Amino acid sequence: MLRGLMGEQELLVSMCIQHAARNHADTEIVSRTLDGPIHRYTYGDAERRARRLAKALLRLGVEPGDRVATMAWNTYRHFELYHGISGIGGVCHTINPVLSDEQLIYIFNHADDRFLFLEATFIPLIERLRAQLPAGMQIILLSPAETTLSVLALYEDLVAAENEDFDWPAFDERSACALCYTSGTTGKPKGVLYSHRSTMLHAFGASLPGAIAMGATDVVLPVVPMFHVCGWATPYTAPMNGVKLVYPGPKTDGASIYELIEGEGVTIGLGVPTVWLNFNNYLRDNNQNVTSLRTVLSGGTAISKTLLQAYEARGVTMVHAWGMTEMSPLGTIAALKRKHSALGKEAQTDVRLTQGRAVFGVEMKIVNDEGVEQPHDGETMGELLVRGPWVVRGYYNDEEATKAVVEKDGWFHTGDVAKIDPDGYVKLTDRRKDVIKSGGEWISSIDLENAAMAHEDVAEAAVIAIPHPKWDERPLLIVTARPGRQPTRESLTALLAKRFPKWMLPDDVIVLDELPHTGTGKVVKLKLREMFRDYIVAER
Ligand code: AMP
Repeated sequence: MLRGLMGEQELLVSMCIQHAARNHADTEIVSRTLDGPIHRYTYGDAERRARRLAKALLRLGVEPGDRVATMAWNTYRHFELYHGISGIGGVCHTINPVLSDEQLIYIFNHADDRFLFLEATFIPLIERLRAQLPAGMQIILLSPAETTLSVLALYEDLVAAENEDFDWPAFDERSACALCYTSGTTGKPKGVLYSHRSTMLHAFGASLPGAIAMGATDVVLPVVPMFHVCGWATPYTAPMNGVKLVYPGPKTDGASIYELIEGEGVTIGLGVPTVWLNFNNYLRDNNQNVTSLRTVLSGGTAISKTLLQAYEARGVTMVHAWGMTEMSPLGTIAALKRKHSALGKEAQTDVRLTQGRAVFGVEMKIVNDEGVEQPHDGETMGELLVRGPWVVRGYYNDEEATKAVVEKDGWFHTGDVAKIDPDGYVKLTDRRKDVIKSGGEWISSIDLENAAMAHEDVAEAAVIAIPHPKWDERPLLIVTARPGRQPTRESLTALLAKRFPKWMLPDDVIVLDELPHTGTGKVVKLKLREMFRDYIVAER
């Protein structure tokens, strides 16, 4: 090997905030704080305070590799924690407060966090669980509040007690910088442990012009919580690109988001479809429009055509992306290619409604049940496997979970079932555990649900597999009714029959008062499968 003669600085997260402080010192970070007032300061201020925080953490005894938990809203303090903790080799463990008690107890103990930086909102939750959390974990409050918890310090006191005389240390880029647990609708949560290197490479990849392009003229509003996959990398991509950051704090309702977008001149917003749906409803109901917003990035679940078109009509491009906690999170972006400009609007919209193409750095393939690679013909379904420098290669201290999904050569089983077309566009058709396997063929529950949801009497729809003696599994459609409506098996079957071959049609239709949901709003199909495990379709 002839070794290259170029710089070999380690790729560290601290590069981001240092770059911003040196080159974008007066660019603002604006945050809505817990008690309402808008806080503003600059990257220069943020970096100085992150240095003080880093010194405070060292004084508290944080050692490289120690897990330091945060339970906090999107604000400048959370931004400082991301950088202060990772910058000294600690692991910033962001905890999702909407998880169940059982999951939270598991996560705290599994991660064995030494410290918890706690937003006042979540004090009652931690008071309730305290006895079951690691006894040695010490709590720092982000702002003063009444509590029965034993509190080590207040955040501002820690920061105030230090000076700025500190240099960000260099260390191995393969060290862990952040930890985020993923909690599917089944099984125990699994820890995804990001490294400095993976985080930096992901940040480069994620902010490419063909991905979530952002530059120093942009104003970015991450509505996606910083406890969901590192706020989709915005704590890194924003300082890396010198963008003005706007943090919504605890308020993500339409009116609050509107105030920030218009007041701060936001150009790019990031969030799940529900956020954009609520925001669009707010604009419609209040007869408002947006003036600066040009792109909203939507991921986490699929977007609807109606929503994409609603934003289009407002002059805002809704960009659909797919990813996972295990992928840091970015996997695909539904951006058009040059050749698509020749297509009509309708056909372009169809492309933009797919989950999109792999971003540079992510390899993808689909395989059948036997692990045989399937063609990228846009027709054949298979489980989606991914590989790359920011894709998980093992769960934190969980060999069993790792073995189940990571192959020796690094391919990670996403659990998503997809088609890939010859241009590389991925269309998710199901979660692997939700796909209906009937007579050796796969039926997409999502396709059926989307079609059922278009029925005028239906509020929500879920399709699950029920056991069948001849076909192994058959689809069962479960719906809830819109107020004052009564969906029927006949009318739904007639609607679906227009789009699906007979063998794909649900064997029966059930109307429930409501469907079970997870804390993040996804339907818990496992629960439905349990409810209807012994369901026998009546002869008709
Ligand atoms: P999480 O790790 O909690 O972010 O969840 C990742 C899972 O969410 C993926 O495996 C998908 O099943 C789903 N998901 C994420 N983005 C999308 C999308 N754009 N369309 C459909 N499903 C998505």
